[in-house]
Amino acid sequence: MRILGAGGCMDNRVYEVGLQDAWQLIFECLNDLGVDVDSADEGHHVVKARHKGKLIDLAVKPLDEEAVEIIFDLHKESIEVYTWKLDNSIVDDFFKMYERKLVEMRAFVRCPNCGTKVRANAKFCPECGTKLSWVDLDDDAGNEEKKEKKGFFASLFK
Ligand SMILES: [Zn+2]
Repeated sequence: MRILGAGGCMDNRVYEVGLQDAWQLIFECLNDLGVDVDSADEGHHVVKARHKGKLIDLAVKPLDEEAVEIIFDLHKESIEVYTWKLDNSIVDDFFKMYERKLVEMRAFVRCPNCGTKVRANAKFCPECGTKLSWVDLDDDAGNEEKKEKKGFFASLFK
């Protein structure tokens, strides 16, 4: 449930995922979103970070063995009564990415070399160390598309 504040907001969501996976995934997301992490409390699973002059308190609260609550609190350093434009987009961006990564994490693929079940977002097989090529497939597809577009525009201006 989202609670809007002056200059920020608090949002919490519940996910069916183990505590350690939930904790690791937070850093992947913050890193990908370009958020600077100030401190991480491994014991209490609390992260303090900052983004565009705002402070972020992120906490992972274990509910049971396979469920956690993620609490994202975005706020200013001091209470600000008037805000011209309330920008809470980082909260949405975070949860969107977090959920996407959760789906990726839960998906499994088979290693082409040894057949081990491997997480879909793994870069290497944990069993035999084979580099898992499908991680790069998307990038290659993107390049092909760009090449095609370039060719298309080049033909326009001939
Ligand atoms: Zn393997």
